[in-house]
Amino acid sequence: MSETGIFYKKKENFMANPKRKHSKARRDKRRSHDALTPVQTMKCDHCGEAKLPHKVCSACGYYKGRQVLAVRITA
Ligand SMILES: [Zn+2]
Repeated sequence: MSETGIFYKKKENFMANPKRKHSKARRDKRRSHDALTPVQTMKCDHCGEAKLPHKVCSACGYYKGRQVLAVRITA
């Protein structure tokens, strides 16, 4: 092969790369939506156990003052 002529870059040199490092402000703005919110719980009207609102109590099986689930009692 001759030394003259058009030289092409190797393919790995064509990989897209960010020109600049993102600033801390830009990073932190991106993370402004990343916070998790704690799960809301309420006390069961029947047994007082913490339960999810609008869900059957997993401890006693009650919902809106009546038994809707048979819960196995474990010692
Ligand atoms: Zn309950």
